[in-house]
Amino acid sequence: MTVYAAPGTPDAKVTFKPRYEHWIGGEWVTPVKGQYFEDISPVNGKPFAEVARGTAEDIDAALDAAHKAAPAWGKTSPAERAAVLNKMADVIDANLELLAVAETWDNGKPVREPLNADLPLASDHFRYFASAIRAQDGDFAELDGDTVAYQFHEPLGVVGQIIPWNFPILMAVWKIAPALAAGNAIVLKPAEQTPVSILVLIELIGDILPAGVLNIVNGFGVEAGKPLASSPRIRKIAFTGETSTGRLISQYASANLIPVTLELGGKSPNIFFSDVADHDDAFYDKAQEGFTLFAFNQGEVCTCPSRALIQKPIYDSFLDTVTERTRIAVQGNPLDTDTQVGAQASNDQLEKILSYLDIGKQEGAKVRLGGERADLGGDLSEGYYVQPTIFEGNNKMRIFQEEIFGPVVAVTSFTDYDDAISIANDTLYGLGAGVWSRNGNVAYRAGRDIQAGRVWINNYHAYPAGAAFGGYKSSGIGRENNKLALDHYQQTKNLLVSY
Ligand code: NAD
Repeated sequence: MTVYAAPGTPDAKVTFKPRYEHWIGGEWVTPVKGQYFEDISPVNGKPFAEVARGTAEDIDAALDAAHKAAPAWGKTSPAERAAVLNKMADVIDANLELLAVAETWDNGKPVREPLNADLPLASDHFRYFASAIRAQDGDFAELDGDTVAYQFHEPLGVVGQIIPWNFPILMAVWKIAPALAAGNAIVLKPAEQTPVSILVLIELIGDILPAGVLNIVNGFGVEAGKPLASSPRIRKIAFTGETSTGRLISQYASANLIPVTLELGGKSPNIFFSDVADHDDAFYDKAQEGFTLFAFNQGEVCTCPSRALIQKPIYDSFLDTVTERTRIAVQGNPLDTDTQVGAQASNDQLEKILSYLDIGKQEGAKVRLGGERADLGGDLSEGYYVQPTIFEGNNKMRIFQEEIFGPVVAVTSFTDYDDAISIANDTLYGLGAGVWSRNGNVAYRAGRDIQAGRVWINNYHAYPAGAAFGGYKSSGIGRENNKLALDHYQQTKNLLVSY
């Protein structure tokens, strides 16, 4: 067990600056209007840094820098860009503890997550796209004896990217890596709740890139995000966040006729067929663990398995077991590597989750576990903690239909295969799903019948860089991860040549 020292104390791994500016044109730039906002740590509910509050003027300055840098960067070879991406991956690996503590302090997640998952995934993402761009071929077709078609990939130019607060560094890297690999220059806006860990990363990697290729403008959605997403000076906008915000982004983009990638909300079903309990073995153990993952990252995961569907014959016994497993999950100081459940990312998010706990109780759901704010006492008493909560009810309830984005699972039973698929698909969303069965045929069919971009079969919450990720229905448009993501950041140039 390691308990990392809190930033600001003598042994701290990361020392935050009291004030963070925008990163534009390869340097720190003060906001044009001179305004700042406070970044508050969810660990203790206290402000720890001031951050530049961006406006349209700052977005314009960042777009100027990006447009200046884009032509030269776009002409570099895939091998040169791959070398840069690999260097950034090396820097993340070499600064794992520093970045993990920064991410935990900014977001509230247990430090074991960035140490073991978010950051290794982020560096692997850079390496994956470094390889993918080098392996990408053009296309050639002989149309007839005299005519051939050559197809080339070209960068789009300058692209905008807007990210949420739940995995600040990883969500940034999911977008930055393919865009840079494809040869684009970027203006990125972090979420206002969690800007600082990304700025700590920029301090480390900023000099590896030519000035202006990657620019960060901080600030709020309407003040900074909207001028970026609606600018006629970007050739694409990539967005991760709520479905309602995604609709706005899509409207802004349509006015400029530019493509969007939207990674939006979810209400993912996690389905447990009876045969998981046929034997009390490692597989059954893994399935139980799969249930408890609704509390992973405090449920602030777009693919949180927030609806659990359990087949009737095992409903009571399975739910008893997983309730006990969830009860003993360690909730505590996010800087302690033993902690499994940390703090919600912001006070607004805490309030939203608490309101859903009330809604669930009012609509008659049974509270099997939790159901309240968690008071961890001492230095953490002002932090944003919620008890992992298990509700029982039916799929028509709001707690089954609306994204809570907290450590809350809504559980119901199903009779047979068709019933399971019908409940699973009875949602506006289609981002993730889990299927647990020893029967390969059932699991495969369910994987195909569920309307979601990612179905985990006999596992959950794995995000390898090579596996395409994105939503059906109101969960989004386009895909991230996998070499497919390069297509979202490239033009196809066709030369039709007669000889
Ligand atoms: P949000 O939509 O409130 O904010 C996301 C980002 O958009 C922030 O940077 C915010 O400042 C910006 N923004 C807000 N209004 C804007 C506007 N009018 N114009 C431009 N930008 C604007 O979402 P959030 O609360 O930060 O994130 C949680 C949501 O993100 C959840 O719904 C979750 O499911 C989703 N999410 C999806 C994925 C995925 O890959 N599908 C991954 C992570 C999170």
